[in-house]
Amino acid sequence: MNRKKFLKSVAFGALSTSVLVAACGGDAPKTETTTAPAATPEPSPAASAPAADCNDLTGLAEADVKQRESLAYVAKSEDAAKNCANCRFMKPNSEANGCNGCQLFKGPVNPEGNCKSWFKKDA
Ligand code: SF4
Repeated sequence: MNRKKFLKSVAFGALSTSVLVAACGGDAPKTETTTAPAATPEPSPAASAPAADCNDLTGLAEADVKQRESLAYVAKSEDAAKNCANCRFMKPNSEANGCNGCQLFKGPVNPEGNCKSWFKKDA
């Protein structure tokens, strides 16, 4: 290798090395960023999940709807002391939408609901 070729290869090697180092950020000055991490935004009320509708009977078979009607289920008990929440047949959070269910029929029930099969839950 003559002197001219040697100098060309050294110059090209130095150039290509500096390009590679720069591409990797190796030449970038190391500075610490002191900015605080971005705060997680609070979900707005409109963005939060809607409350489950425990009166929605969508998807229930007609026979299941008739079963709950035969027990005279109402979503709001007329007797505040007798409601699904204090009935032994209530199944807490058993429905797919998070509502309570009842052991006597399919579909959601409200804690404030009632039917003619209400039976006091053991303490
Ligand atoms: S039996 Fe009647 S009162 Fe009791 S949980 Fe079922 S629907 Fe509610």
